[in-house]
Amino acid sequence: MNIILNGASGSGKGSMAGFLVRDFGLVHISTGDLFREQIAKQTPLGKKVESYVSTGKWVPDEVTIEVLIDRMQQPDCAKGVILDGFPRTLNQAIELDKVLNVDLVIAIEVTDEIVQTRLGGRYMCRDCGTIHSTRWDKIDKCKKCGGIDLYQRDDDKAEFIQKRLENFKLNNSEILDFYRAKNKLFVVQDKIENTPADTYALVKDTVAKL
Ligand SMILES: [Zn+2]
Repeated sequence: MNIILNGASGSGKGSMAGFLVRDFGLVHISTGDLFREQIAKQTPLGKKVESYVSTGKWVPDEVTIEVLIDRMQQPDCAKGVILDGFPRTLNQAIELDKVLNVDLVIAIEVTDEIVQTRLGGRYMCRDCGTIHSTRWDKIDKCKKCGGIDLYQRDDDKAEFIQKRLENFKLNNSEILDFYRAKNKLFVVQDKIENTPADTYALVKDTVAKL
């Protein structure tokens, strides 16, 4: 069983993946992690990936697909995989379709306000790097080292988050159309009052029937 998790940063894809791994024995694959693994191993493929990443370039789709295939052929992927953060463009979806049988695309829909609340409330300790969230933490001092200099990184600031979100939506609508046309799209609304477990409950039965 192969599942794609689709949603903006802050939509709770990570939590959703955790539940699916636990209940269905799938392997959670994020392309960012795969790139880092390949580079660390210094395989020929890893060196190729490194040549793009180290110069700040996007890894081309065909290389990304190659990395994915390499990972999906490992024995632990026998029950299937959850792809997180891929495909990001229509072209990637089309290319992926040639090499992987996708059973379901779970698109987690969130409002801009939810994303802003989740990502915008992030503060980092300047001394030890611990991340705090205004949703659950006090930010007057670090919960780990007691440091008092907690700050927001530029990419956690509201304008930046909004820009990234608009960019995501621009590419994402055609990806969703692609899978909708194949009858593989399952859209779930993530509401502010829902816990990750609540949102997962909306998805579980559909996945169990695959
Ligand atoms: Zn600290």
